[in-house]
Amino acid sequence: MSTSTSTSATGKTRTSTPEQRAEKLAELHEQITDGVAALVDSDAWRAMLDTAAKFHTYSLGNVLLVALQAPQATRVAGFRTWKSLGRQVRKGERGIAILAPCTYRPKASTAATDSAREQAKDERGGEAAPANGGKQLRGFRVVHVFDVAQTDGEALPDVAPALLTGQAPAGLWDDLAGQVTGHGYTLERGDCSGANGYTDPARRVVRVRDDVDDAQAVKTLAHELGHIECGHVQDLPTYLTCRGRCEVEAESVAYVVAAAHGLDASGYTFAYVAGWAGTDLARVRQAAETVTQAARTILAGCSSVSGADTATAADDLADAA
Ligand SMILES: [Zn+2]
Repeated sequence: MSTSTSTSATGKTRTSTPEQRAEKLAELHEQITDGVAALVDSDAWRAMLDTAAKFHTYSLGNVLLVALQAPQATRVAGFRTWKSLGRQVRKGERGIAILAPCTYRPKASTAATDSAREQAKDERGGEAAPANGGKQLRGFRVVHVFDVAQTDGEALPDVAPALLTGQAPAGLWDDLAGQVTGHGYTLERGDCSGANGYTDPARRVVRVRDDVDDAQAVKTLAHELGHIECGHVQDLPTYLTCRGRCEVEAESVAYVVAAAHGLDASGYTFAYVAGWAGTDLARVRQAAETVTQAARTILAGCSSVSGADTATAADDLADAA
């Protein structure tokens, strides 16, 4: 069994065993579960879910129609849905045309009336399921929806991950970048089409957006390295079908790596993980073993944590808190 000794910033000398280091990583991971639990239990989170429920899930065809006409659109809804959310579509705004299904109830004397009412009512244009009442699809008609940017009014409740600001821990970017290239990937900086970063296993490229603070950029780099270290990119079908689990794992790795360097990513990580795991905290907990294993490997390759002594870094973090 090996032990390591290092001197912290406060001049204290600590010795820790691999078991203690593993325990510290497990503790750091536990912080994520606790943080996500607190977040999904908050009023702000519930308000956000209530709002999200009002937005319709659009069919793939309509998602494409929106993307073609309004590539910058982030949240679209019909005139009345916006009104119910306390927002008004601005005068003169041009709607985004999508297709709404027209349904009818066959063999009923009131079929025509029902159908007309249905058409008038439906501004959602999604997979308005005609499963109820034996309604059948008769065709589609064009309806218009509007992006949030075309509306004014009350702010939508949102618990979005907050981009980290400030400096990155000294040396961490280079350490992580070295590991990314060590895995055979080319590291790029630049626009990521709205994402903070991505890993493209086909091109063997990891890309991180270049218009954020260094603290955010290094956290994103740790997230992408987390995807690689957890094996998500070698198994693309799993990555695509179990996206939620992969995102929870990669972001948790990033949190632990950042925390071990004294960078608190909770403002970003908790909301991000909750966004993918929802109220299913078992999903966050189940990731513990994968996350701590990957984080340990990454931290072992970080000269920026003195002697890769993560326990000491974590102790310092606790001291500073
Ligand atoms: Zn990811």
